[in-house]
Amino acid sequence: MSESFRLSAEQFAQLFEQLSTAYLLAGPKRIAGAGRFSGTDLVRYAFLKSADELELHEKSWFSPKELVFPPDETLFYFNGQQFTEATLPDDHEIIVFLRPCDINGIDRLDRMFLENAGVVDPYYKRRRERLHYFMIECRESFENCFCVSMQANRTSDYEVALRFEENSVQVEVCGQKFVDLFARAGEKAEFKPEFVSENPVRVELPTEETMPPEIFNDKFWDEYDSRCIACGRCNTSCVTCSCFTTTDLFYGDSRQCGERRRVWDGCHLDGFCDMAGGHTFRKDKGERMRFKTFHKIYDFRKRFGVDMCVGCGRCDDVCPEYISFSNCINKLSAKLKGGL
Ligand code: SF4
Ligand code: SF4
Repeated sequence: MSESFRLSAEQFAQLFEQLSTAYLLAGPKRIAGAGRFSGTDLVRYAFLKSADELELHEKSWFSPKELVFPPDETLFYFNGQQFTEATLPDDHEIIVFLRPCDINGIDRLDRMFLENAGVVDPYYKRRRERLHYFMIECRESFENCFCVSMQANRTSDYEVALRFEENSVQVEVCGQKFVDLFARAGEKAEFKPEFVSENPVRVELPTEETMPPEIFNDKFWDEYDSRCIACGRCNTSCVTCSCFTTTDLFYGDSRQCGERRRVWDGCHLDGFCDMAGGHTFRKDKGERMRFKTFHKIYDFRKRFGVDMCVGCGRCDDVCPEYISFSNCINKLSAKLKGGL
């Protein structure tokens, strides 16, 4: 059951203010002058003070995954005798404004952190339980999006869906939690969100049957040896990359007192595959690209029944070497069709 409403821009701004007395509100925000090149801005997820801070016209460089899986997080403190679990700085619930692909992206993280091998990650879970999805309707693609090919363009997993128009906002409210607030703020309307149904970028996915083991060592991956510079931007901007490393931070000269942190890591980065004894594997960048590709569009599906990649296109947006993941998938499929 859902109800729909129309609010003027002023009514929505007031409602936003009202919501911010009880919730933290997060969404894509423009940070002036913080972009990749001099004089450019950065759009990233951040907490918002007012509705006009919500950036709706540009894709965010980073994804909302930081709300559930921060780049750097203290797990516990230790002093040689006992350890104490780190608590969250507050217990606020968070309303997050996000698009369908990112809702599907967090679904992939849920599978890794809450379902994988029957183990629940408590640090992820406590952050995840605080989120309320306010879905931003997405009827047109941004550059590099291929969510339709990845079947991640649609979702029904939201409490509120919003269409932002020039001077008004249309909303569909599902469930009881926010209905009264919206009913008081606006007037009843007929509204159901639409979803983008076509992207200029399409990918053709290889099927399990067309992935012979020989492709593992094929020369196909060699071009990435020289092209990729292992900067890891594709990993950090990806909504579904969930790898991390843990590190102990000792206080002063003590080897007894300190804290354990987990920090984002990524399969493209040097050191990701280092093991005890100095052994390392996947030294070549092409091997790392192969690993990422298989994980995103092949072996995750075998375990969870859906592809890990949701086609947000951020990896293509941010790669300084203009390596396109969608292009890699298509080239791989074409090669497999032609036979090895
Ligand atoms: S692999 Fe690329 S397109 Fe796929 S979810 Fe990650 S950043 Fe988005
Ligand atoms: S962003 Fe590009 S250059 Fe950097 S690690 Fe990823 S594929 Fe390699």
